[in-house]
Order: sequence, then C-alpha cells, then structure tokens
Amino acid sequence: MTVTAHMENNDPVGAALVRTATRFRQLAARRRLRDAEVEEIALLFANAAHLLAYTEGNQRHLGPSRPLHSSWQRLFADPETDVALLALLESSMCTKDAAERTRRELLSWLGERARSRETPTIAQVVAGYRQAQDALDCVDEAQAALLERIGLRTRGAAPAAVFSKAVGTMAEPSTREKLVHAWEAVRARNTGPVLEQLDEVLRIRREQARTAGTCSVVEQTLVRSAVDEAQAAAFIDAYLERAVEGTARLATRIRETVGAAQHPLAHFNAYARTVVGEATLPTFPLDGCLDYLSVVTQESLGIDLTPLASDRQCEHLVLGTNGGRVIGVASFDLIRTPPSGSGVMPGAGPVNAAARADRTGISVTLPEARVLCRYQYDVQGRPVVTFASLHSMLHEFGHVVNHWLLGRHAPSDTGLDYLPIERIEDLSSWFEKWAYHPRLAEHLQLSAKDTAGLEICTRVKKLEFRSADLDRAVVAALDFEVHRQESGGYADSFRRLERDFQLGGLCRLGSVAGFLMSPLCRAYPGASFAYLWGAAFGAQAFAPWMRTGPGGRAPAWTDRSLDSCFDPDAPSETPELDPLFRFYNVSYDASGEPCL
Ligand SMILES: [Zn+2]
Repeated sequence: MTVTAHMENNDPVGAALVRTATRFRQLAARRRLRDAEVEEIALLFANAAHLLAYTEGNQRHLGPSRPLHSSWQRLFADPETDVALLALLESSMCTKDAAERTRRELLSWLGERARSRETPTIAQVVAGYRQAQDALDCVDEAQAALLERIGLRTRGAAPAAVFSKAVGTMAEPSTREKLVHAWEAVRARNTGPVLEQLDEVLRIRREQARTAGTCSVVEQTLVRSAVDEAQAAAFIDAYLERAVEGTARLATRIRETVGAAQHPLAHFNAYARTVVGEATLPTFPLDGCLDYLSVVTQESLGIDLTPLASDRQCEHLVLGTNGGRVIGVASFDLIRTPPSGSGVMPGAGPVNAAARADRTGISVTLPEARVLCRYQYDVQGRPVVTFASLHSMLHEFGHVVNHWLLGRHAPSDTGLDYLPIERIEDLSSWFEKWAYHPRLAEHLQLSAKDTAGLEICTRVKKLEFRSADLDRAVVAALDFEVHRQESGGYADSFRRLERDFQLGGLCRLGSVAGFLMSPLCRAYPGASFAYLWGAAFGAQAFAPWMRTGPGGRAPAWTDRSLDSCFDPDAPSETPELDPLFRFYNVSYDASGEPCL
C-alpha cells in the first residue's frame, strides 16, 4: 500500500488477511478436522483469495498489490503448512457428502500446488510477465516524457489519464490531431519489447502444455470452464463482429462531431465533452447510494443488509442475511478522492452512524468480501460519490454477493475460481446495471436538474463502454487465439484478426498490449473472453428488471435467471448479444435501428 492509503485506511485489507490467517493456522494445527472445519478451511482460502483479487484489481486506488501478495504467500501458500495440511486432510475423512467433496478438492488442489512448485514453468512465466510489465512501464515513461515536452505535467498521474484529459479539453481539431498522432507514434516505437516478452511467455506456456500432453494452452484453461473450445470461439467471433460494426459507427460519429482524422477513438474524450455540453455533472450522496444498493439487493435477491459497527474509521461494514440466515460480511473501504483535497472535513467514517450491531458478535467464519468506495466532499461538506464510483461500487458488490451465495467454495490462489471461468463476471455485470435504472433518481430524490445530469452521466458511461468495446473484444480474441495455436506470436494473430474482421485501423496491437497482462490473462491464458461473456449475460439478465419503471417493483427474487451465478455445477448457456448492444446503444433512428 502507498503510505497515504495506508495511513488513511489503517490497512484494513492487510488486517483482514491476518485475521483470516489466524483462524486458518488454528485449524491447520488440529489433530483431526470435522466436516464443518474442512468446509471452513476452503472458505478461509476463498476469503483470502478474494482479498488478493480485490487488491490486484484496485491497485490504482489502494496502491501496489505486491506487499499484500507477499503476506498472502507467507500466510496461505507456505510449503510447510501445505504439507501438514495435506496430511491432516488425508486423515480426516468426512461424513457428509458435500464436506467430503470439499476435502477431496482441497487435497487435489494442494497436491497440484506442491507439484507446481517443483516445475520451473510457473517461475518462468512470472518472471516473463514481470519483464513485460517493465517494458510496458518504459512505454509509459516515453509517453510521460512526450507530455512533459509539450508542457503537460503528469505529477505522478498515469500518462494515459493525463492524455485523455488533455484530449477532452482541446477544442481545436488540428492541435488535438497533432497530440494524438505524437502519442500513438511514441507508443508504436516503444511497444516492440512488450510484445517480445509476451511472446516469450507464450512460448513457455506452449512448451508446458506440450509436456503435459494437452493439445493447447486453451485446452488446459478450459478445464475450468463449462463451455468447449468451439462454443467459446463462436461466441468470441460473434461478439467481435458486432463490436467492429458498432465501433465503426461510433468512430464515424466522432469524426463528424469533433473532426478527427486518424485514430478517431483516441479523440473520444473530446467527443464525450460535446455530449456533456454546458451541463455540470452531479454527484450523489454517499449514504443515499449505499441505501439504494441495500434496497435493490433486498428486492432483487432477497438479501437484507444490516450495518455493523467497525473499529476502523474508513470502513462501512454490513452483514448479509437471506431469510434470516446469515450469509456473509462485506466491508466497504471508504477512500477519499482526491486524498488531500481542499480539506473541508476530516476523513472520519461518514456512514457508520447507522451501525446497529458489532462484528465481535460474529463467532463463525463467514464469506467475507470487500468493496472499494471512492468518495469526496461536496461544497456543503457532505460525502458524495460520482456516477463512475457508484457504478464500480455496484459492480464490485455483485462480486460480493457472488462470494456470499455460492453453493460451495473452491480453494483458489487467485480468487478467480469460484465459478466456471466464463461466468465470473456475470453477476457483477448484472449488478452494475442498477446504476442505469430509473429508480436511482427516484430513490435519491434528485432535483430535475440533477436527474437530467444523471441522464448525461449514463449516456457518457455507455459511450465509454462502446469506445473500449473493440479493444476488449480484440484482447479476448487474441488471448484465445494465440493460446490455441502451436506457433506464431501475438503480432501474427493480430494481423489475422485485422484481415478476417476488417478492423480497419480501429484497434492497434500497441494499445491493447497492456490488457494482455491482466490478472485473468495471467492466471488463465485464453480466458479473457469472460469479460465479453459477463457483459452479454449482465445485459440480457437485467433486461426484465430495466423494464420496471420508477416506483415499480422489481421481479421477485425467486427469478431463476441468476441461478447460474450461484451454482458452479450449472451449465453455461451462451448469452445473447442483442440485449447488450441494445443496452449500450444510446441512439436509434425512426425505424428502431441503432444509428450510433
Ligand atoms: Zn468484475
């Protein structure tokens, strides 16, 4: 964690990891495990893995995840503890079927982990990614230098963010065009080493797949999936085709509106500015948003959220119950952005006053998960959130509910194993759609002006999704393709995609290289199509809820459309694409055809 984040939050994530580890050590030191304790060990591993995934996914706000990762390694991946735990599990036969299944899963997972320590491949892959990341950092540095040369100070901010902001404020097309051109040229000149490193990792992975006797790397990844290679490939191709079509329309609109010649998508922020126009985008009261989250969770999933007292200032704790049964705990990490603003108020816990119970009253291990909640103070000194922050809070809370309601917890090193790999973004993508629901304005009792402002926020957010959609689809297609092939590098596969899907310069390999190193790509090569799958599933499953207007009740929580989110053994049905492209299309012509 950065010093600031650490001081502001007193490192609640590290503390949660230690608390989880303490119980884990107690159980691992037993002479024999009962059924419930076997299940508890799997849950503790899952809780710890969730913390890892959470920190990894929120590095931008929480600081580098490496310190937590090394604590996790020490506490949850210590070889000696593994050996002792293996012996303990061997001798602890369970009486109930479910517990026995968990015991066997733990045994095979720990066995696999021990074997992987003996093969050099994992260390080589990790080292390869580290070098690829270093090469990517060099691209960042070169771009930062470019910005400095033209008088744009980065002051430690990500160069890409500074660039996008600058693009958004440059009204003069020719100046903007020059900046975009220079930016892309710097990237093109510096991306080579990143791709070389990624190709090297690819070579190691293919070698490992051959040694293991599998046809391809993807075949190994799809062991974690409920779809076969052909079903996944058909879905990715269909998505990519639609994404090319939609992005081409958006690019035309950007060209027409703000005058962009090359790289129209790099001018997106200038276009978004025209969508906002003279409006001031509203912020929303933090407590009202948390209450909204609570209400929609109750009505759509039948889960009651009860605030708990926390001993940490910047944490909002809730207990989840379903039909009176306690199902989990969630901690909202309240992070003030910018951390050192005008200093209107101290960063004391803004919402904890509502707490009605104490976490010390909970003596059993529960599914525990965290949500990042970025807030700021408005001019009246009230804690508020932006639309983007609310959107990501709802998305992350979807992951929390997923963790809470899973039928069983699989042990994991990554926090990405709770469902077949293609479904891990399904519920979070569904949940985030509540940010677009008409009930939000009603619930927050927004003024007419703020309701209009919220409408603009949702349009911009949808357009943002659209502007990144082709990159997302190309990353998924590339990731899948290279890990299916036995030879050829990323550039070869990219050229094939360019030709077969007529990308027409709308996506460049250099601009997606960084995404090929996401935690999901690193853990499960070939699986990044899960983001497309989740997006499509979320839009399709949310459509019936979206049709309930302001004041209308959502369908009863017994609706079966979300069952596949909670049952790891359920099959994966390919989601439809129409609801997704309809949801994110902000304009239609008179015939109802999408025109943007
Ligand atoms: Zn997610």
